[in-house]
Amino acid sequence: MISWTKEAEEAVALLPLPPMLQQYARLECERLAGNKGLEEVSVDIVAEADTRYDLAIGRDVMRKLRAMARGELDEPLVPEEFFDDDSGELFKIDMCPSQYGAASNVKLENMRRLLPALRQRLKELHITDLMMQLTRDAVMPHSDFRIVVTGCTNACLSPYFSDFGILGAYDVAVVPEKCTGCGRCSDYCSLKAITMENNLPQFDKAVCIKCAGCEEFCPESAIAVKEMGYKVVVGGHGARHPKIADTISEFTDLVGVLKILGKTVQLIRDKATEPVRVFSMYRLIAEHGIDRIKL
Ligand code: SF4
Ligand code: SF4
Repeated sequence: MISWTKEAEEAVALLPLPPMLQQYARLECERLAGNKGLEEVSVDIVAEADTRYDLAIGRDVMRKLRAMARGELDEPLVPEEFFDDDSGELFKIDMCPSQYGAASNVKLENMRRLLPALRQRLKELHITDLMMQLTRDAVMPHSDFRIVVTGCTNACLSPYFSDFGILGAYDVAVVPEKCTGCGRCSDYCSLKAITMENNLPQFDKAVCIKCAGCEEFCPESAIAVKEMGYKVVVGGHGARHPKIADTISEFTDLVGVLKILGKTVQLIRDKATEPVRVFSMYRLIAEHGIDRIKL
């Protein structure tokens, strides 16, 4: 059992961390103390825990989250489009923690571009009317067309278990004149998509999932996003019959996302003819395949 000094107790309570991390900070301090063979958490351990969150989350994101936690941010961190009210509609858009700012500016911008266009298209496609027609017993959350949007392909909140999932995806490249050859990006990429050659990172594009984690993580900002886009997955399902969504496109632009959405809704219109107790895309995909909703 690890004890705490009074000063460490006070210091951990005052760490400028966002609420989603604050709840873990005590455990991180105890983990660090335990790893060093210490029986007590001191203020030095608390300070070390604080810096470890910079390493783990990425400095820029942490700088913004810390400023937000302190109430010091001049401009709103997250675009207001992230919180548009969809009540009164039979679609539900869930978002990953990027919704609250836990993402780089590139990812926030990618999501900001997507959301208004996505909502507008869903309304043009009259998805609410369609879901009402398909409701057998009573309109309730079971009737929603469920969409999950994530800032990147790391997918903290899983789009793979939703009717329609959209994941931010990013083609990255090194900026050689900024790179110091430290190799930290290579250590960071858990997919081992980066190897160091002649002191520069080389990206294995067959392995890279386009998460842009390395872009956030590089201490020199020497990895840049060349192109922003989206991965689209359709027909996932949780609950009683878990099913992982099929990938319709590994990388497309906003126009591509909206086209796939249109084709998906057309598939529902054409093939889901009987009202059901619980709507789910996965049955339609199981019966009719994904060829007709591909680009
Ligand atoms: S982390 Fe950044 S500076 Fe270090 S090798 Fe990778 S790209 Fe270069
Ligand atoms: S984008 Fe993600 S998967 Fe690709 S190299 Fe960077 S960290 Fe690895």
